[in-house]
Amino acid sequence: MITDKLPRNKLHKEEYLRSNDLRTINLPPMEPLRTLSVRLRNALSQEDLRLIQLESNAISAAFAAAYAVKAAKIKVLGARPHRVTETSSYELFGDYTLETACIRLWMRTAIIQKPTSFGTLLSTLCHELCHHLDVVSWGFPNTFHTRGFYERAALLYHHVRGTPVRQLVWVELAGGCYRINWAETMRNHG
Ligand SMILES: [Zn+2]
Repeated sequence: MITDKLPRNKLHKEEYLRSNDLRTINLPPMEPLRTLSVRLRNALSQEDLRLIQLESNAISAAFAAAYAVKAAKIKVLGARPHRVTETSSYELFGDYTLETACIRLWMRTAIIQKPTSFGTLLSTLCHELCHHLDVVSWGFPNTFHTRGFYERAALLYHHVRGTPVRQLVWVELAGGCYRINWAETMRNHG
């Protein structure tokens, strides 16, 4: 996962830096999120798209209720068509449309033929929900992929799944972008 470049536009740059600095968020109560994540996992193991969509929307609704905002609508689709631009690997299985506040999740892609794993499905869902919350709750209308964004998305993911949060380890790249060093990150526990 790589961060977006720092924008040149003054307003965008200001938003980017604020997003980058927001590393902690108030998390909603554990329930019903944990129960819903177990139900989503069961729905995925049955490969029941209708049920996966239902449980994904229930998770979206639970976050929306907690933050007192409108829920993002989630559509769960089978195979991702080729014509969809795969801008980056972290959005291989999902996307968020700003104008409609709609999230699409794909169960498989042209490259990866077998259904997505639960970890990938839930982290994609949380990534896209983080875009939604950026826009409707946290004051980041352009919802840039900053280090803060990835850390917020990770907090949502571990909270829903009930797994310990790992401190993300960042590596600075040329041009001011950052990528996550997964090997180092996975060494961090709790
Ligand atoms: Zn994204």
